[in-house]
Amino acid sequence: MTNGPILLTPGPVQIPESVRAVMAQPIFHHRTPRFRELFERVTGKLKFVFRTQNPVYTLVGSGSAGMEAAVVNFHSPGDEVLVLDTGKFGSRFTELARVFGLCPRVIEVPWGEAVDPSQFEKALTQFPRVKSVFVQLCETSTAVLNDIRAIGEKVRRTDALLIVDAIAGLAADVLETDAWAVDAVIGGSQKALMLPPGLAFISVSPKAQARMRQSSLPRYYFDLQKYEKNLVSGDTPFTPGTMLVWAADEALDLILSEGLENVWARSRELGDFTRAELSAMGFRIFSKAPSSSLTAAVFPEGFDAKKFIRLLREQKNVTVAGGQGAMKNRMMRVAHMGSIGKEELQAGFQAMREILAGMEKSEQRVA
Ligand SMILES: *Cc1c(COP(=O)(O)O)cnc(C)c1O
Repeated sequence: MTNGPILLTPGPVQIPESVRAVMAQPIFHHRTPRFRELFERVTGKLKFVFRTQNPVYTLVGSGSAGMEAAVVNFHSPGDEVLVLDTGKFGSRFTELARVFGLCPRVIEVPWGEAVDPSQFEKALTQFPRVKSVFVQLCETSTAVLNDIRAIGEKVRRTDALLIVDAIAGLAADVLETDAWAVDAVIGGSQKALMLPPGLAFISVSPKAQARMRQSSLPRYYFDLQKYEKNLVSGDTPFTPGTMLVWAADEALDLILSEGLENVWARSRELGDFTRAELSAMGFRIFSKAPSSSLTAAVFPEGFDAKKFIRLLREQKNVTVAGGQGAMKNRMMRVAHMGSIGKEELQAGFQAMREILAGMEKSEQRVA
């Protein structure tokens, strides 16, 4: 696989050949026993990967569709909510909450750090009326992994729901939805689930289901009660992403046949390997609580990060993501989730070393 382009971005990720082959098959109609069987099977496998007995709903849309569904289904206008903001995707929850007329209380965690459980506990005491707590498992803008278990221990003793964006972390970082009392987990197809973009997933606990029935924000396409009603017969309320659901059947099989624990362990090892290689090249590892999904690496002072990322793509066919927000042009982000293997990472790092050497040489010539 190392002769072609190497995609090391934190979404979309490379898609295994067997999953691509499924999507080349002829389409079929979804109001059929064939689709219902497929959809029930996929939903069962999703529950396994989510580590939950709760229903998991499949929406057509990118991951953010799942984030919006979590905001509109569990809240009423004016509800106070607590957002644990560890980066760009944390801020998206604040934006969503504002747009839908909620009152977000925000803990802004410095970029590169994880939520401090004791700071969180204080906020929970300070704002006892919050209806929900929003947080990322893996915050992809900083490669930070939050301690969902510790947060869940506090939230489960309150009436608030714990809503976790695991779009990047799911099937790379350890997540125990039921054991850690997470009320809603949001997933997306184009991250460690090894699918193209286009599907969002959301699990809903009994506590969240009860809330859903009382909450009054307007919703239509993302109304999870419609999805709940349809799921009983293996249906979806609207036209499903048929080929993506079929592809998910195959991709989830790959995860389950390797074993979810083994996938977690592999991603962690690749994360260790990535951080060691990038440190040796002179990068600074940005995250103080590194995720197994991706690594964020800061360029040395004064280095032309934009040029490096462009040359890497144009000359070596290796694509990584740049920094976001304040870390734009100062950082790169390298994914090691899904089907990305050691071989691709090694080839990627070799290409990086060659580009670095070339840039150092030409800079000396300029000086
Ligand atoms: C990718 C990602 C999202 C969703 O992005 P979409 O572009 O809507 O798929 C949300 N949260 C996190 C943590 C992500 O990594």
